[in-house]
Amino acid sequence: MARHTITLIPGDGIGYEVSKAARRVIDATGVDIVWDVQNAGLDVVEQYGQPMPDHVLDSIRKNKIAIKGPLTTPVGKGIRSVNVALRRELDLYALVRPCKWYRGVRSRYQDVDLVIVRENTEDLYAGIEFAEAETETLELIDTIDRLGGRRIRADSGISIKPISVGATQRVFRFAFRWAIDNGRHKVTAVHKANIMKYTDGLWLHVAEDVAKEFPDVEFEERIVDNMAMQLVQKPELYDVMVMPNLYGDILSDLCAGLIGGLGLAPGANTGDDIAVFEATHGSAPKYAGKNVANPMAMMLSGVLMLRHIGEKDAGDRLEAAIAKVIAEGNAVTYDMKPSRDDSTAVGTSQVADAVIVELERAPVAS
Ligand code: NAD
Repeated sequence: MARHTITLIPGDGIGYEVSKAARRVIDATGVDIVWDVQNAGLDVVEQYGQPMPDHVLDSIRKNKIAIKGPLTTPVGKGIRSVNVALRRELDLYALVRPCKWYRGVRSRYQDVDLVIVRENTEDLYAGIEFAEAETETLELIDTIDRLGGRRIRADSGISIKPISVGATQRVFRFAFRWAIDNGRHKVTAVHKANIMKYTDGLWLHVAEDVAKEFPDVEFEERIVDNMAMQLVQKPELYDVMVMPNLYGDILSDLCAGLIGGLGLAPGANTGDDIAVFEATHGSAPKYAGKNVANPMAMMLSGVLMLRHIGEKDAGDRLEAAIAKVIAEGNAVTYDMKPSRDDSTAVGTSQVADAVIVELERAPVAS
């Protein structure tokens, strides 16, 4: 059996609890994993001056695979944003967010099985911003006036939206390959090319070109506002949707809402040779330390991770065990009960106990 060394970043807030639960169920699959535990986030800021110290990034670079609990983004000058540091430093350009409905989940929708692939490095989230009234901003306003003949109001703040051919090609190639490897049949390019011709227009044209390299996968495009309505009205029509950073952030939460909420939405930040798995949700500080947070999004991120490292059988068994616990509806947290103060809701660690019981019942492929 192959041994895997994996960086584990427990996170902060509810991160400790949900990542402990995820680690326990991943270990219970029997896969041989050596955990390289690395602390990051609020608790290490005092010691290292930033929430994502270099030695944590080095651990991920060395091991190539990491699973991470949510990290609170501290508000304050001089502190690097954790997610920006991770994505930029490791060039994790594709964020894969499957949104799958499991039998037993209370939701307005059933049979939803969508995947969002979000471009992770460009767009309005590239972090190129100019504050209102700063000298550079006023210079930029003059330059835009001179070059583009359009006067921006002098009291404006400005965020720049870069979308490049290279970054668009690689995220679409990734999405088509991911679709093929995971038995998916259709890729939808999401955009606003009718308004932003040189950014979203470029995105769409590059998508159309890349689609020609994958003739066995159906390809279509949707304008983002129409996409939002279609997802609410007929999510069953969609399969893999690829979108720039900002639309991906917003529609990921919409899709999480379709399948029962943030407690069930996993994710994988992926680059050419490194992948960091994490839930879509944040550190939910008000629930920290109370053993109430739903660990299933972290556990399902573990399912994605197991499949990514070649442990498909273990990933399938873990997903089946989680699905069984959800379908039975007993050992689930408050957010999956009919009402928020349901006294039958269990804690984070009890969900892990129940998943482990199901894993122990399931046969292991020989
Ligand atoms: P959040 O996802 O942490 O919480 C929003 C609400 O969703 C919570 O109050 C709770 O009601 C619910 N929720 C979230 N996760 C849950 C779970 N596992 N089980 C049950 N209920 C759950 O979003 P936020 O409050 O906007 O952000 C809090 C902090 O997390 C911020 O500092 C933010 O920057 C950070 N954050 C980190 C990541 C990450 O590390 N990848 C992602 C998003 C937000």
